[in-house]
Amino acid sequence: MSKVLDAFLQENLQELRDQGLYNEIDPVEGPNGPIIKIKGKDLINLSSNNYLGLATDEDLKKLNIAATEKYGVGAGAVRTINGTLDIHIELEKKLAEFKGTEAAISYQSGFNCNMAAISAVMNKQDAILSDELNHASIIDGCRLSGAKIIRVNHQDMDDLRAKAKEAKESGQYGKLMYITDGVFSMDGDIAKLPEIVEIAKEFDLITYVDDAHGSGVLGKGKGTVKHFGLEKEIDFQIGTLSKAIGVVGGYVAGTQNLIDWLKVRSRPFLFSTALPAGDVAAIMGALDKIMASTELHDKLWENGHYLKDGLKKLGFNIGVSETPITPCIIGDEKLTQEFSKRLIEEGVYAKSIVFPTVAKGTGRVRNMPTAAHTEEMLNDALAIYEKVGKELGVIS
Ligand code: PMP
Repeated sequence: MSKVLDAFLQENLQELRDQGLYNEIDPVEGPNGPIIKIKGKDLINLSSNNYLGLATDEDLKKLNIAATEKYGVGAGAVRTINGTLDIHIELEKKLAEFKGTEAAISYQSGFNCNMAAISAVMNKQDAILSDELNHASIIDGCRLSGAKIIRVNHQDMDDLRAKAKEAKESGQYGKLMYITDGVFSMDGDIAKLPEIVEIAKEFDLITYVDDAHGSGVLGKGKGTVKHFGLEKEIDFQIGTLSKAIGVVGGYVAGTQNLIDWLKVRSRPFLFSTALPAGDVAAIMGALDKIMASTELHDKLWENGHYLKDGLKKLGFNIGVSETPITPCIIGDEKLTQEFSKRLIEEGVYAKSIVFPTVAKGTGRVRNMPTAAHTEEMLNDALAIYEKVGKELGVIS
């Protein structure tokens, strides 16, 4: 064992523990549904991204098992050698249909997908304008590309316009790209895509939307780009298959040329083993369900409104969310952490999110209602919110 490594780990782990920043993980002892079991106790789960409840869907489980029986548990190789199964091709056709594009490519995760797609197209001669609240995988993908990164104030279209103009007029860069989340996961606000498209046209920006939290949720399930009817305008539609779709994986949907390029230049496609068949079959089943009916989507929104209205009536600050994501903004970091701890003790699993994930003084407990919650569960959660809110003086 290296003494240098050991000293580095000891010192840094201790520092994190001393500052209360070491994240202890409590494993979930069963399915990640609307009720989860942790340390033997059932809790109302308001922390999963399982928006439509599909992660535990019985039909999808059967599809997964049948495909595993047919193909085995692993794809056996990377996509470009012999890891491409016929159902990967079928999945990618379905993803393109889902997103209204010519083609699509799948990856092993949403995180992987951002690393893959940004760095396959952008390089050190280029510049990427990026919303300051974009997801970590976007930030890492931008860094990996070597392009100049220009941070844009959150959802500030004047700032985007000014920085795009400056970058374009400087003549310093090759390609310019603007990247945004479709729905921002900490506040639940929706990217202003119509204005973004207008600015992109004016300054020749390539447009890139990571719709991890919009797919299944907006556009009758088809996502934020569909919500605004901009399928022909956005160059990269990125998504994850692990949130509303309920399984695992990521994808890019776009033109045939874009997808052809990613198949030869995006490194996780070339050098990392393909998604297992069971997952692919379950993903296709989920996409079929979302495209066939808006029932789950409608239930998600109904539950989202119910929880939001309930929290608002109790006097909580739920911020600017335009989607079912419902933050309860407490402010002070320590109080936020205490609030979440007490909720969990009382039976609601809703995690605190504090600086540096969100700005200082805007600590919050984030709630993710899903289509699988019942009104009774939400009522129970609201009663616990009221109890803990009064006890800690967050509401009167
Ligand atoms: N992009 C965004 C905006 C996300 O919120 C997430 C997940 N937190 C990811 C990408 C990564 O997706 P995955 O979990 O599939 O790796």
